[in-house]
Amino acid sequence: MKILFGEKCIGCGACTKQCPEVFGFDREKRRAFVRPDAAVEAHAAAVRDAALICLTGNIKVAEN
Ligand code: SF4
Repeated sequence: MKILFGEKCIGCGACTKQCPEVFGFDREKRRAFVRPDAAVEAHAAAVRDAALICLTGNIKVAEN
């Protein structure tokens, strides 16, 4: 699984609540980010849910 994180984040924080193991939040930039060391496959279901609930469609998931 690969996460495609775009430029449309509005900093709502939903993805970080849904899957904090993969999505962090930069308080200064007021936007989320994908943790570089995240175990994405281990949290695949939560990542897919985060992509679904992101209001701006900023998170896309590409299955390998
Ligand atoms: S759910 Fe979407 S808009 Fe909200 S913080 Fe995450 S990437 Fe940004």
